[in-house]
Amino acid sequence: MKLIIQIPCYNEAETLEIALNDLPKKIEGIDEIEYLIVNDGSTDKTVEVAVNWGVHHVVNFTRNKGLAKGFMAGIEACLAYGADIIVNTDADNQYCGEDIAKLVQPILDGTADIVVGERPIDDIPHFSWIKKKLQHFGSWVVRKASRTGIPDAPSGFRAFSREAAMHINVVNEYTYTLETIVQAGRNKMAITSVPVRTNPELRKSRLFSSMAGYIKKSMLTILRALLMYRPLAVLTALGFIPFAVGFGIGVRFIVFIVKGQSAGHIQSLILACTLMIIGFMTFIIGMLADVISANRKILEDVQYNVRKMAYDNPGKGYTVGDAVDIDIQERKGA
Ligand code: UDP
Ligand code: MG
Repeated sequence: MKLIIQIPCYNEAETLEIALNDLPKKIEGIDEIEYLIVNDGSTDKTVEVAVNWGVHHVVNFTRNKGLAKGFMAGIEACLAYGADIIVNTDADNQYCGEDIAKLVQPILDGTADIVVGERPIDDIPHFSWIKKKLQHFGSWVVRKASRTGIPDAPSGFRAFSREAAMHINVVNEYTYTLETIVQAGRNKMAITSVPVRTNPELRKSRLFSSMAGYIKKSMLTILRALLMYRPLAVLTALGFIPFAVGFGIGVRFIVFIVKGQSAGHIQSLILACTLMIIGFMTFIIGMLADVISANRKILEDVQYNVRKMAYDNPGKGYTVGDAVDIDIQERKGA
């Protein structure tokens, strides 16, 4: 059983070593642990720090592409390097390394394929009141959207079985955390959560820089994920509103006709027709999107099979955009 711990890094030279030192060297039930960092176009000495510390793999982007892309590049690389379990953690030493043992346990037991570490959000001293509330609210929305019971959706402390990792894909550019839960829930993967501890803050969050930006990006990400996995339900709900309003106005017009008072109400008839057409068209677009999403399911299967063929045959390598591996021997001591 081989575990690879991956850390996406964007200019983390200052905290990376602390985070790496905090990682476990041995875990019961795991035969081998390797460490991988994804360098997301850092302009500081992140790669040097990682190589000199002795990580096994460095996946490199020549420019910053955002956490979602870095995460996926890491997952593909871990699969190529033969990971049976992949754990993702942050470079700012946010999560308690010792708790990785707890995170992988449900996978070792065969009871889950994805395990999300639940932070004690209300007890984290450096989270503001509003950040705590927003994280709870965001998780609630994700729980509804994904039909899962994951209490801490934005948590980046996660474990994936090899099978689950083969299935994952992320299309948004911001963060993988929300979309992967919606995907897992909607595709009926075995996803669960365990309580984990966090460490004191070493630097400010890079993803949560402004409140308004965070809310906007998170909401768009959730809506987009929902549209991708449940287009008909979302668009039917969306179309129902104008349709129902238009229908109500139409009924009112019929009542006027029955009473013989229809004159002077043509404006409302036009409004009723327009609203009902908008509602109906939204529903039709939902049906189209639903048919198109059937293709997505087939593509997901194809992607899974391509990954299986590529990664279960060692030496075949992997390709994710222009992410390339750094030659660790060459960089040592640089
Ligand atoms: N990160 C990244 N690319 C980016 C931004 C962040 O790879 O463009 C990494 C970052 O180095 C860290 C992780 O993503 O290891 C999570 O970022 P951060 O800790 O700032 O976010 P938060 O903990 O607030 O979710
Ligand atoms: Mg962090």
